[in-house]
Amino acid sequence: MSEKQTRVLVTGAGGFIGHHLVTYLKEKGYWVRGVDIKYPEYTEVDADEFEILDLRRWDNALQATRGIDHVYALAADMGGMGFITTHHSQILYNNSLINLHTMEAARMNGATRYLYTSSACVYPEYLQTEAEVTPLKESDAYPAQPQDAYGWEKLMTEILARYYHMDHNLETRVVRFHNIFGELGTWEGGREKAPAAMCRKVAVAKLTGNPVIEVWGDGEQTRSFCHVDDCVTGIYKLMQSNHRDPLNLGQDRMVTINELVELVADAADFAVERRHIEGPQGVRGRNSDNTMLREVLGWEPQISLEEGLKRTYDWIEQEVREKLEKEGVAIVEPVGV
Ligand code: NAD
Repeated sequence: MSEKQTRVLVTGAGGFIGHHLVTYLKEKGYWVRGVDIKYPEYTEVDADEFEILDLRRWDNALQATRGIDHVYALAADMGGMGFITTHHSQILYNNSLINLHTMEAARMNGATRYLYTSSACVYPEYLQTEAEVTPLKESDAYPAQPQDAYGWEKLMTEILARYYHMDHNLETRVVRFHNIFGELGTWEGGREKAPAAMCRKVAVAKLTGNPVIEVWGDGEQTRSFCHVDDCVTGIYKLMQSNHRDPLNLGQDRMVTINELVELVADAADFAVERRHIEGPQGVRGRNSDNTMLREVLGWEPQISLEEGLKRTYDWIEQEVREKLEKEGVAIVEPVGV
């Protein structure tokens, strides 16, 4: 079968990365089925087939994987820090069911490749207590002390993938994302992550003329951020590779949350004043060691944080503008417009 005829399933295709991945795989010429419990929020479906299926149910997992060669497993009950630090049992229960069912159903239906999307949240908290953290390499995941139930479930499914290869010869791939952001991602409602939340706050500040924005904690916690276009390129390259062990996928440029705010303010061309408030912050510092990523894929993310934030901010500002206009809020236009 030629690559063009390969039938792929993307689970979580109604979500942020899943939707971008469907678009990318369609452009590559694959036949794509998307599955989710919801349709993409901000654009039309571009998969060949899109089925609304709750993968916590075994019969749905079997239906989702029928006739499929490659599975990209992205479905998860997840969100930003505010969500994953307050929904532990729900996350562990839902995501365990989704992943146990999807992997077993893929095997039973004869899929040959299976890519699981793990997270930097698998890394032990004891290695992330300082803002000036040593970048995390793949082998650092053990001895295990992941952050929250979200991280434990990711680690468990990484191991599940390893055993499905050992016992059933399923070609498994495991990617550990480090803070993926970009256009068409959730930007309000409680599940949004830091870059989208900052873009929304700065956009509201700019459009309403009130420069004060709230930042959780002192803002000196550090992270690296990777644009979604690099993310889907990396996912695809990993699926084509022969690498079965977990692989980091992220940028290795670490910034503080305060620096992130300033970069978003630059993208908006609007000066903000930070007000620091109590809020969940996650680990103190986190960065990706991309040594293995470069070795395995001969590639690393290309889009600068400034460029990625500019694209993301422009999209979110437009979303915020439409929302404020609907609510009848007076928009402050910049001088000269
Ligand atoms: P997302 O929340 O936008 O997408 C996940 C999708 O899964 C959602 O559309 C959701 O409706 C769907 N889903 C939830 N429960 C389901 C169920 N029972 N059956 C079917 N679908 C269900 O998140 P995302 O940012 O696109 O993340 C995709 C994957 O990458 C997830 O597995 C996530 O844990 C992982 N990840 C993301 C990041 C990041 O920075 N975005 C970081 C680390 C790991």
